[in-house]
Amino acid sequence: MMKIAVMGEIHQDGWEVLKEAQFKCFEIKNFEEKNLTEELADVEGIIIRTAKLNTSVLSQCKKLKIVARHGVGYDNVDVEYLNKNNIALGITSTSNAVSVAEHVLTCFLYLTKNIHLSDKLTREGKFNYKSSLPNFFELYKKNVLIFGFGRIGREVSKRCLGFDSNVFVYDPYVNNDIIREYNCSPIDKIEGLQLADYISIHLPLKNETKNFISKKEFFLMKKSAIIVNTARGGIINEHYLELALKKNKIRGAGLDVFEKEPPDEKQPLFKLSNVILSPHNAALTLECRKRMAIEAAENIKFFFNDRTNLNLNNIVNKLEIKI
Ligand code: NAD
Repeated sequence: MMKIAVMGEIHQDGWEVLKEAQFKCFEIKNFEEKNLTEELADVEGIIIRTAKLNTSVLSQCKKLKIVARHGVGYDNVDVEYLNKNNIALGITSTSNAVSVAEHVLTCFLYLTKNIHLSDKLTREGKFNYKSSLPNFFELYKKNVLIFGFGRIGREVSKRCLGFDSNVFVYDPYVNNDIIREYNCSPIDKIEGLQLADYISIHLPLKNETKNFISKKEFFLMKKSAIIVNTARGGIINEHYLELALKKNKIRGAGLDVFEKEPPDEKQPLFKLSNVILSPHNAALTLECRKRMAIEAAENIKFFFNDRTNLNLNNIVNKLEIKI
């Protein structure tokens, strides 16, 4: 019987897929290297959430054929090792985008409308003092800038267009005609930063995108700018973000992801009121957790049992390995 490890909790529906496929599957809760090396020694497939799979652990997995990410980012896995050793890497490409896009709009609206201040004032019995609240705004006719026009960036654009915002996109890897088909305008990075009222990041984390938004970029932004990062920590430099927020160089920020996860309790951003934070859960709506668990499990099931039904778009290294 083929042995499959599930690193971290997944929705029951994913377990059902694995069991129906007659795999011997088990959950790993202890991610210390020594334990991983022991438990993964004879597995043929791994479903992984956010834990790390580094080279020294992978090199002990002698029977491994596929790593299936429960999600779409794979910066926690040593892809080079997988490529060299002919191990497939799966993602759940059809599951996450809507959930993350809704999270972005939630941050935009919350920060724009100062919901927390209105809520506090109402609870404190200061209903008639509403004019003491600071100005708040509309998304209507404002400029939204999207960095990265892949699965999530496109879903964000559709929702912003629903608010009658003007949507600009920077993604040099996507043909401008496709951007225009989505009723968005292609723009370069500098010009985009200068005109944006809202900025949303949807890039993968790699050398080229580390500190993609840093000192120089904050300098270019409008005072009205609200920036949201649901992609990966490190794409926005947290130190310069903190300075920009503290000095009111921008209006606000929403962060679902951090340079270090979990972030330190003393993380200076925690003290600021023009920031809204969440614990890397933009994709963790119940609907999305079910979809990701099923899609990750099906990537493994179809990889071993029925290649004709395997969604090849989910196998990110299909060109680098023999499949
Ligand atoms: P995707 O691969 O579909 O899209 C990424 C886009 O970024 C691509 O269109 C690519 O051309 C573009 N891109 C790459 N490098 C670029 C650069 N230097 N400048 C401009 N554009 C560039 O990915 P996706 O599914 O939309 O996911 C985007 C990000 O969101 C990933 O980092 C992923 O890890 C993250 N994510 C986070 C959560 C969460 O829970 N917060 C959930 C899902 C995905």
